Amino acid sequence: MNRLAVVPNFRKEVTWHMPKPITQLENARARTITPEMEAVAKREQLEPETILQEVAAGRMVIPANRVHLETGLEPMCIGIASKCKINANIGNSAVTSDQAGELEKLETAIHFGADTVMDLSTGNDIDSIRKSIIEASPVPIGTVPIYQMLEELGGEIEEMRPQHFLDMVEHQAKQGVDYMTIHCGVKFEHLHLTTNRVTGIVSRGGSLMAKWMMVHRKENPLYDSFDDLCDIMRQYDVTWSLGDGLRPGSLADASDEAQFAELDVLGELTQRGWDRGTQVMVEGPGHIPMDQIKMNVERQIEVCHGAPFYVLGPLVTDFAPGYDHITSCIGASLAGWAGAAMLCYVTPKEHLGLPEREDVKQGLIAYKIAAHSADIARQRPGVRDQDDALSRARFAFDWNEQFRLALDPETAKAYHDETLPQDTFKSAHFCSMCGPKYCSMKITEDIREMGPRASWLNSRCQKKLRQENLDPPQPPPKRHLPKQRRRWRVFVPPIPFSFRLAKGTCHEIFSNCSRVWSASLGLSG
Ligand code: SF4
Repeated sequence: MNRLAVVPNFRKEVTWHMPKPITQLENARARTITPEMEAVAKREQLEPETILQEVAAGRMVIPANRVHLETGLEPMCIGIASKCKINANIGNSAVTSDQAGELEKLETAIHFGADTVMDLSTGNDIDSIRKSIIEASPVPIGTVPIYQMLEELGGEIEEMRPQHFLDMVEHQAKQGVDYMTIHCGVKFEHLHLTTNRVTGIVSRGGSLMAKWMMVHRKENPLYDSFDDLCDIMRQYDVTWSLGDGLRPGSLADASDEAQFAELDVLGELTQRGWDRGTQVMVEGPGHIPMDQIKMNVERQIEVCHGAPFYVLGPLVTDFAPGYDHITSCIGASLAGWAGAAMLCYVTPKEHLGLPEREDVKQGLIAYKIAAHSADIARQRPGVRDQDDALSRARFAFDWNEQFRLALDPETAKAYHDETLPQDTFKSAHFCSMCGPKYCSMKITEDIREMGPRASWLNSRCQKKLRQENLDPPQPPPKRHLPKQRRRWRVFVPPIPFSFRLAKGTCHEIFSNCSRVWSASLGLSG
């Protein structure tokens, strides 16, 4: 018997007591497809129902503060069912940059494909910089509220009271911040696990909270205030980005006890955040050797019940300062392939200085490649179309089309034109790398055209084609053969001769020939 049938007006009563849905999560649970879900479905070429189900299950977030939606935010999503996303960090420091500089970085980040941008300003004018960034940005903006908190306390984090922090979160939520990194998962009882680390606590937020706890000998006030924070974030639909305050800052500290103790706390907080109607994603490390990345991603997904994983890099080696956009791009590609939903970019300036406009560009290009290759490896529908179109243009020596399809057309064209700038070379069947005589794609083109005329090879190929039930190709008309190809025909006879000499290896030679031939016809095997 249906248990609900014995309770008259059960559904009506439940509805009566349920708070009105505010967040995307609550709407999805109530089976309401919001305009933001519709927009995201269109962008991702997924069904709105899929978006609804993913958001309801917590596997996808739509970071869209209600205030920012009113000032031009274009909704996007972060989750394993959608394409892998990238985040760019901008923001000033006490030493350098200003509002104009940060807006220039924002523009660069969006131009090169950042899906979200975090304003990590820690210098002067934090408030007005953030306000102008939110107003100018069509992509979600994330922040780390503890940074502004510290500025307001004059650098004395121990002076912070929980209410201070709640007020700061509310202030930023009112400004329109779409997601916030808050280090609630760093617990007093886990601090001792970092004492033998090579690089200690490298998260700024994590180290600040650790200092507060050591001074006051109390639990993390952000952990204790978690439910109150949820209530503020729910009002504006600010998405949680649960900070990984104990992430490893070096390969030597990767996957250690401290990191995983905090991850368990983040799993608990994910569930509590969902219970209070907020959207949640979870941040992850940092510095991880390649062989541990898949395990890290899978463990996060399991411990945090499938909440989207937002990884910082990770760097796969520590020995290349100045090139950490490359060391981390390798890790980010593997993490994306393993299931990370968003990759936080790293610039060449990582560990060395505040990134400038050009560093932002380099970081974004590296991460666009990482996210795209991860999407290809995860076989997302249609994601390889641009690669295939570019490959076809490359084989057809259609240089202008290659530039058009390139991730960074300006750089691709500039490199090509460094040596062959004239327009005539935009249709040349070679570039300066191998030159006209050694261009292997040109040679392949020649082979394809001359192949059907090489009768000794053709006869064996015909046999192979007959065996495989395939139609033989038609040779091109003779008049189209250039002189150079006739020289090849003269060169052919010694090859069958070597067939006779290499008696025992005839089969091997034949199979090689047929493989070359099949490949030239675009056949496999
Ligand atoms: S010359 Fe070499 S690098 Fe240039 S198109 Fe030909 S094969 Fe490619």
